[in-house]
Amino acid sequence: MRIDLHTHSSVSDGTESPAELVATAAAAGLDVVALTDHDTTAGWAAAAAARPAGLTVVPGMELSCSWSAGEGAPVSLHLLAYLFDPLHPAFTAEQARLRAERLSRAELIVRALAADGYPVVWADVLARSGGGVVGRPHVARALVDAGVVASVDEAFASLLHHRSPYYAAKVDTDVLEGIALVRAAGGVPVFAHGLATSRGRVVDDAAIEAMADAGLLGLEVDHPDHRPDQRAHLRVLADRLGLLCTGSSDYHGTNKRTPIAACTTEPDQYAALLAAGTGSPVLTD
Ligand code: AMP
Ligand code: FE
Ligand code: FE
Ligand code: ZN
Repeated sequence: MRIDLHTHSSVSDGTESPAELVATAAAAGLDVVALTDHDTTAGWAAAAAARPAGLTVVPGMELSCSWSAGEGAPVSLHLLAYLFDPLHPAFTAEQARLRAERLSRAELIVRALAADGYPVVWADVLARSGGGVVGRPHVARALVDAGVVASVDEAFASLLHHRSPYYAAKVDTDVLEGIALVRAAGGVPVFAHGLATSRGRVVDDAAIEAMADAGLLGLEVDHPDHRPDQRAHLRVLADRLGLLCTGSSDYHGTNKRTPIAACTTEPDQYAALLAAGTGSPVLTD
């Protein structure tokens, strides 16, 4: 069994529609794929409708969160959520708030770039998101097409970097509240790429322990942005805290160079995840 539990479609910041994504997953030889767009479940129905026979689709999402402790600035982090009720009122309200936050923040970034003479237009960036969830990859694509940078990677390394003067933060969900919401909706919360230092500051073990106390159920251990020593560290931590371990590609179509199924989840860990989720069924034959 080959299982990839973290992918993005064009409903957020991937480049393939949910239908194309499930076809890509089947063509790559996956048996199970989770659709985990940022802060939305809008792709679930299309993925279900297009699901090829033999492929199981796990409905999921990646929630934009932050960890605040002490006096330092909050650390932004991502929480994967699986098998939750997509109609849970409090959780859907928080997802809507996050999408609105993304919209205003992306507009701030684009208007700041435009004010300095970069040839990007907010209406164009918005159109690129196709009515879905806006993210920096949409701004990055606009910068590439305008010839400002050569690639999405280059845009993220320069103008869109979190230390760029054009960067604007968004107000994300407190991760302990996020975990509680996912659990309340019958879902399985898994901490995404928790030690990926290339994305910015990361939390320490004590924070992950606090997350486990709040109801976290798993750690994404095998991820393209994790080094072998980081994976080993997370595996030991998961064992100590009784958390399940996942492995995933975090596929974004051509917005990133990572292919689908670049990392995968062990069948026993997937079985534990399925057993813990009660808010939505998997889509299967
Ligand atoms: P945002 O969610 O708007 O803060 O933008 C960050 C998102 O862009 C994350 O989900 C990343 O996975 C995604 N992303 C896509 N392409 C890249 C890239 N080349 N470098 C860094 N992040 C990327
Ligand atoms: Fe993304
Ligand atoms: Fe993420
Ligand atoms: Zn992701």
